[in-house]
Amino acid sequence: MQSSLHPHHGEAPMPPDHIRFVVISDTHGKTEKLIVPPGDILLHCGDILKRGGSMMKLHKFNDFMRQQPHAAKIVIAGNHDFCFDHESFNLLKATHCLKKGYLPVNPREALTSATYLQDEGLVLCGYNIWGSPWVPRFSKTAFTIPSDSAKMRQIRRLIPVGTDILMTHSPPYGVLDLSRKGVAGGCSSLAERVRQVNPAVHVFGHIHESYGHLATRRTLFINASSVTKNYKGINLPYVFDMPRKSID
Ligand code: MN
Ligand code: MN
Repeated sequence: MQSSLHPHHGEAPMPPDHIRFVVISDTHGKTEKLIVPPGDILLHCGDILKRGGSMMKLHKFNDFMRQQPHAAKIVIAGNHDFCFDHESFNLLKATHCLKKGYLPVNPREALTSATYLQDEGLVLCGYNIWGSPWVPRFSKTAFTIPSDSAKMRQIRRLIPVGTDILMTHSPPYGVLDLSRKGVAGGCSSLAERVRQVNPAVHVFGHIHESYGHLATRRTLFINASSVTKNYKGINLPYVFDMPRKSID
């Protein structure tokens, strides 16, 4: 049996007694081209900026999120969001020759119009949501550590059993993670943890060219990358509807 969830792009009517989730990712400063369907909860899976971006772009993103009508908005970082990775910030600033005024920022202070998750979760409408920014490989970008390192495995083990909706920037290895060169760029430690946790939905981005969805028996996987591989085109946001839970 396939996952009973049917993702779409906002065209399907809302079934009665459901909550509508809308997913965007990898907007890389291109929010003006994005048409976001209405819904209850808006999720952004990281890469708000492009190669560090600028404070101005970050404020622009916060304004964009504020303008969205969704009652709840959740954001995680991606490997282009250098200002949120305080541990690697100085190295990234030097490597990418970023301007003097580019500083590490507290994402919770900068993103006042959304809830920021970094290896932590929250419960919304009775659904357990978890968010994590980390990506595998050695390239000099933010939140990047080797896929099979002890640190990455430890981070993945933090994803709680009972997670309903998992938000990561990276795809899991082997699922919607093929680069244009045909290389699987997903995270193997994440794939292992996803098999243990079996979230109902796993949303991510990062590998723009693998935008799409895949429903397995237990999990609906969505790569919601909003920009295309060359950052020029825009993919449609993803939408899925979950039954409304009665909460005591
Ligand atoms: Mn990206
Ligand atoms: Mn990325």
